[in-house]
Amino acid sequence: MTAQIIDGTAIGAKVQEEVRQAVAEMKEKYNYTPGLATVLVGEDPASATYVGMKQRTCEKLGIRSIGHKLEADATQEEVEGLVRKLNADPNVNGILVQLPLPKHLNEEAVLNAIDLEKDVDGFHPVNIGRLAMKGRNPLFVPCTPAGCMRLLEESGVDPNGKEAVIVGRSNIVGLPMAMLLQKANATVTICHSRTKDLAEHTRQADILVAAIGWAELIKGDMIKPGATVIDVGTNQKEDATKKRGYRLVGDVDFEAAKEVAGQITPVPGGVGPMTIAMLMHNTMRAAQIALSKK
Ligand code: NDP
Repeated sequence: MTAQIIDGTAIGAKVQEEVRQAVAEMKEKYNYTPGLATVLVGEDPASATYVGMKQRTCEKLGIRSIGHKLEADATQEEVEGLVRKLNADPNVNGILVQLPLPKHLNEEAVLNAIDLEKDVDGFHPVNIGRLAMKGRNPLFVPCTPAGCMRLLEESGVDPNGKEAVIVGRSNIVGLPMAMLLQKANATVTICHSRTKDLAEHTRQADILVAAIGWAELIKGDMIKPGATVIDVGTNQKEDATKKRGYRLVGDVDFEAAKEVAGQITPVPGGVGPMTIAMLMHNTMRAAQIALSKK
């Protein structure tokens, strides 16, 4: 059996188109343009690339993009001061502080400083707390896990009653993913680096989410036949046939896994495009919240 490929590029484009239309409607009806402020601290090339992609996507969808760049040696007070300024700016609906921050900065304090209603990354502890609690809903859900949920929905996979296994428990992917799946009534197992027999757990999964950062750790024989596999991992693997000397692979051994799984996301072209699309979705939502208070 060869798995059905979940096309994150197409689904991400669909989400972006929904946002583009909603932005156009908001402009026409209310003469209001959503705005996303990005905060980049330092010179990390990968972070600069991510911020650039986010800014370009904003422009494509009609969202105002406001870029702020601070030096690598910026102080805690400078970064938090900028966040507070953006909190008070009515032209800014969403604030995105690109992570990771340079090591001397207290990331938790910076994220705590973001106004809850502008927390489009969904990393504020109050939003995460609401995500964890029964009967509560966060204003914003972290973009990558929200994107994974949308991939499941678009693929006709209802987590209700299913066994879901998440490998990885980071604050930005694994943990919120687990909370979202349990909110959607899956029975959730979280695995991590101390899990004794990983394969024993992953083989139980109707829905398997890999968010590890370890190239092709999940082998074909670790997957339950017919399972839905969401591969969040983005890793560089040496490849002499490529000009840049490497290719991108996920945390799942795709070639083997696609012979066992029922549905699977590729890398690239799976979860990746969803992260930016959901950021745009969250920014639009932030603009709706702001507009509803005018
Ligand atoms: P982190 O490094 O923060 O977390 C990795 C998690 O994997 C940890 O919980 C760790 O366990 C667990 N882990 C490590 N080794 C093992 C192992 N051998 N067996 C089981 N679990 C293990 O990574 P992130 O969550 O930030 O990212 C995960 C991957 O997703 C990365 O490849 C990243 O590049 C990618 N990513 C992709 C995005 C996209 O848009 N496509 C967005 C964000 C991330 P422990 O907690 O015990 O240390």
